[in-house]
Amino acid sequence: MQSVQTTILPVHPLRPEPARIERAAALLRAGNLVIFPTETVYGLGADALQPQAVQNIFVAKGRPYSDPLIVHIAEYQTLETLVTHIPDEAHQLAKAFWPGPLTLVLPAHKRVPAIVTAGMPTVAVRMPRHPVALALIRAAATPIAAPSANRFMHVSPTTAQHAFADLHGRVPLILDAGPCEIGVESTVLDLTGETPTLLRPGGVSLEMLQSILPLVQYRKPHSSSQAELETDEARKSPGQMLIHYAPTIPAYLFEGSTPHIHAAMLATLQQHQAQGQRVGILLADEDMDIFAESGADLYTLGSLSQPEQVAAHLFAGLRTLEEAGVQIILCRTFAEQGIGLAIRDRLLKATGSKVITAR
Ligand code: AMP
Ligand code: MG
Repeated sequence: MQSVQTTILPVHPLRPEPARIERAAALLRAGNLVIFPTETVYGLGADALQPQAVQNIFVAKGRPYSDPLIVHIAEYQTLETLVTHIPDEAHQLAKAFWPGPLTLVLPAHKRVPAIVTAGMPTVAVRMPRHPVALALIRAAATPIAAPSANRFMHVSPTTAQHAFADLHGRVPLILDAGPCEIGVESTVLDLTGETPTLLRPGGVSLEMLQSILPLVQYRKPHSSSQAELETDEARKSPGQMLIHYAPTIPAYLFEGSTPHIHAAMLATLQQHQAQGQRVGILLADEDMDIFAESGADLYTLGSLSQPEQVAAHLFAGLRTLEEAGVQIILCRTFAEQGIGLAIRDRLLKATGSKVITAR
């Protein structure tokens, strides 16, 4: 693909400057790509109704065409133009959680290009709540197809600099509104089957969904059920293959009680250091003392009591250790409540489900 100059344009996160938004919107209307912030991660956007423009997304990311895109809207009425049927559940969830980090999978209208849906009869739609994303969609006056603004198989970007590192030369403009608030991708909920099914946990937690729809189901990925997940869930949500968010270096997830996690991580750390390797550790504030003198590269994701902070720092942590040049990453587990389920999901993906149970 032809190389372009990539401009990073700062934009106010709460009161985006209209002229800057218009510059980005004009690019989108003309069929170009724009990277923009959402409350989850930075997105790589194109006009969802221009197949040629959407194709540029796949080329820029190196993303396979079998992996469908989420369509971003700014008004509820736009949903009616993208789907053939809005079930009552969708109304209720949109009322509760839109704008916000919830993506709904619904039966697609034929107006939605097949390249967006990977040829499936369903389309994934979200109304993000970031003021810059909303302003951009409104100014472009079209729904915006946008996956995360990273190269395929890399960690999603939570800053404009992450997106630039992956995609510079491939995208003319990045709107920079600072770090993303939530830091993990949206919750994806399938409303096209018998029972509402959580395909990807995210910023709207399973508990929050179940407070509106008690029957929402979720099959937790376990390291041992990897094969099962790859066949069944992966068919429903083709992008959800296990090593989707992987950093380019081997990573291991340690679970168990905190003292057992510490002992097992220290033992693994020493083994790798003995082989002359540089080791990175993703941990919590509460673990810092244990590893302070270990000689490892430490990155704390925040306090165990603040899972929202942990989620917000997770992808930056993986990228920071990767850029520091560590040869292996060791990570602790976090509680699975609320956004913790999304944290675990992303850690399983980042480690390729290499889980070490410490006891
Ligand atoms: P990304 O935008 O990179 O976070 O990826 C979007 C993800 O949303 C895809 O990888 C799929 O897992 C999911 N998705 C998008 N469209 C659909 C759909 N029609 N049915 C099921 N899952 C979808
Ligand atoms: Mg992605």
